[in-house]
Amino acid sequence: MSYARFSNSDVYVYHDSRGHLTCCMCEIGPDLETKSRTEMVEHMRAHEKVGHDTGDVILGLLEEIEAIGDAVTEEIGAWA
Ligand SMILES: [Zn+2]
Repeated sequence: MSYARFSNSDVYVYHDSRGHLTCCMCEIGPDLETKSRTEMVEHMRAHEKVGHDTGDVILGLLEEIEAIGDAVTEEIGAWA
């Protein structure tokens, strides 16, 4: 499952099976792969700065940071 797809926003962010958050086919590129939710939030803010709609990605990430922390791990497979 992904945080956002192009159908409802300008970004495609998902949690891959290796435990990375990925901004796929990134329009401000290169594609971002990170294990830090905070880094992805900052990346999403960079998208918004150029006028992209990031949907609920930032909100979802901030909720996860609050609940389970910044680090993405492979064990958390809900978004894979
Ligand atoms: Zn991006």
